[in-house]
Amino acid sequence: MVITKSPFLLYSDGNGNIFEDTGLYAAGRAGWDAFPVPAEEWIELPDGGNLYELPGRRGIGIDVTTGEMRLCDKGWAVAAFIPPAHTGLYLAAFETLPDAPTLPLFCYTAAGWLNEKTYVPAVRIEKDIRQENAGYDDQQIERGTKHLLSAYSDNRLVKHLMENCCMTYHCPAARNFSLGRWECPVPTSPACNANCIGCISFQPVEETIVSTQDRLTFKPTAQEIVEFTVPHLMEAPFPIVSFGQGCEGEPLLMWETIREAILEIRKHTGRGNININTNGSKPDAVKALCEAGLNSIRVSTNSARKHIYEPYYRPNNYQFEDIVESLKVVRDFGGWTSINYFVFPGMTDSVEEYEALRKLIMDTGLRMIQWRNFNIDPDWYMGKIGVHETGEMLGVKQLMDLIHDEFPQLRFGYFNPSMERIKGDFEHNFAGGGN
Ligand code: SF4
Repeated sequence: MVITKSPFLLYSDGNGNIFEDTGLYAAGRAGWDAFPVPAEEWIELPDGGNLYELPGRRGIGIDVTTGEMRLCDKGWAVAAFIPPAHTGLYLAAFETLPDAPTLPLFCYTAAGWLNEKTYVPAVRIEKDIRQENAGYDDQQIERGTKHLLSAYSDNRLVKHLMENCCMTYHCPAARNFSLGRWECPVPTSPACNANCIGCISFQPVEETIVSTQDRLTFKPTAQEIVEFTVPHLMEAPFPIVSFGQGCEGEPLLMWETIREAILEIRKHTGRGNININTNGSKPDAVKALCEAGLNSIRVSTNSARKHIYEPYYRPNNYQFEDIVESLKVVRDFGGWTSINYFVFPGMTDSVEEYEALRKLIMDTGLRMIQWRNFNIDPDWYMGKIGVHETGEMLGVKQLMDLIHDEFPQLRFGYFNPSMERIKGDFEHNFAGGGN
């Protein structure tokens, strides 16, 4: 439902209780600045979303009488964690007090309250329902977990996926694997050749925040990978097996094992999409995987600009140009190419980034942008990469419209597409798509 009036700012009493301040309308943040949010860009907080209090931070709102921007001094600022398939258009607007703790690795989208409901400035960018909160039945997941653990009792990777990812971290992909459907995660690498500031699987001891999951501690064999991925590809609806998960380092460092696994998998079945989520650092390894039968690649990036990418990824022995080359390699093999684009309002929609993104799309023949919310403390991120001025901004919604108008063949989404979607009816061949 489109609202015609701005929602009120939310604040917390510091004990987890959240209230609306009817003296202030909620504002949004882009870069270092606060802005009014157009009424039509607010949507109800989707199911699966959460509200967070932001300790040591005061919310910035718009005075309902004067129209002036001012701080809310009634409590701490509040932000929303919006669920997968939705992209946030504005960050929560707040002022950070000295000694405020660094925020953990979640996304901090603006939030407001109106007519007994919570609203966020966001768009549903993906129709596929594979990570819909309502689609997970805990009893079925427990049964599926028990079945897989007994069916693959000697398989360390299935043990890791079921005991850690599914039952401890509640990873949506691992839960779907336990239910025998859609995208199955295949982590392989205990190491990485990048040092991302916001790495979700490894944070240096000197940092005050922790990684959201621990990194894999062993190197699976090709046989361990093949054992459970072949049945998944043969039996699951819209099957995908994806190397490169949040609980590991960089899968391209394990390319020989992955190549051996892909060759063996394709001896048993031609069904489904064999995908790799990667930092794209090793185009030669990507070439070897394409020769073996890799179908699609998703390269993660916080920017299409080298001078924004490298201070964040802090790469070892590779550079921005290598990730571009990896996309070109898969294109040249006729594979599907996506970027896992970390959306940060004020940075992603800056005019400079827009021009760089256009160039990346044209240079690589990119097929899809997965518009992902950037799970990071905004001040910490911009401080760490040394960005004090973001320049002219377009607005995330306008950026999406401009890119869509110029590149109508380029797909927008949030998840890796199945082969049925890549080769067939893109608008319907997905979980919940009716086909
Ligand atoms: S590429 Fe992935 S695993 Fe490596 S440091 Fe970055 S987020 Fe972490």
